[in-house]
Amino acid sequence: MNILLIGAPGSGKGTEAEILCAKNGLTHLSTGDLFRQNIDNKTPLGVEAQGYMTKGLYVPDDVTNRMVADYLKHKNTNLIFDGYPRTLDQAITLDKMLEDVNQKLDHVIHFDIDNNIIKSRLMSRLICPLCKRSYNKVSKKPQVEWVCDFDASELITRPDDAEDKIDVRLEVYNNQTAPLIEFYKKQNKLITLDATNVLPHEFHDSLVAALGL
Ligand code: ADP
Repeated sequence: MNILLIGAPGSGKGTEAEILCAKNGLTHLSTGDLFRQNIDNKTPLGVEAQGYMTKGLYVPDDVTNRMVADYLKHKNTNLIFDGYPRTLDQAITLDKMLEDVNQKLDHVIHFDIDNNIIKSRLMSRLICPLCKRSYNKVSKKPQVEWVCDFDASELITRPDDAEDKIDVRLEVYNNQTAPLIEFYKKQNKLITLDATNVLPHEFHDSLVAALGL
């Protein structure tokens, strides 16, 4: 089974993907994490992506689609797609790429969230650079300040979680990604769940119930 998590930045996709991996044996495919790995390793792809990411803009479709195509050569089942597809071009490309290997997206989970709370969430987000887990300075504090509970790495803030970048990211999401909700509704794959005032494990429970996992 392949699942797509779709929702605004900060809606909780990464956290839910983490829970689904731990409890349901799925594999997390986050294009944001793949880009950040490439940036850390200073690959040509990373150098190209960095300019867009630091501005809060999407990396061009051809670059993103190629990176995912490479990934899918090695694994194309039991995936949680997080942050891909984000444009109509990417959605059509993914459908084709999966069809070529006799796979498909089975379900699309839409994280329905109030835009007002997203900004404060992202501005207080902390990330572990090693295991990629996310924390929050207010609502999901690590046991020791600025230290990852799982691998003791020093936590960081993401450069694109600065206030002016968040505004750009939300606008880009509304213009380019929100239309995909209609695209997947037409394919009868869309499940919309309330993500506004819900704790991660509560969201997980409704997701598991909706998917019959
Ligand atoms: P968030 O969902 O919080 O914005 P991600 O880690 O998923 O964070 O993505 C961070 C950035 O990586 C995006 O703002 C964008 O620049 C780039 N990116 C990730 N996925 C894609 C994609 N599918 N298409 C284009 N750019 C992407």
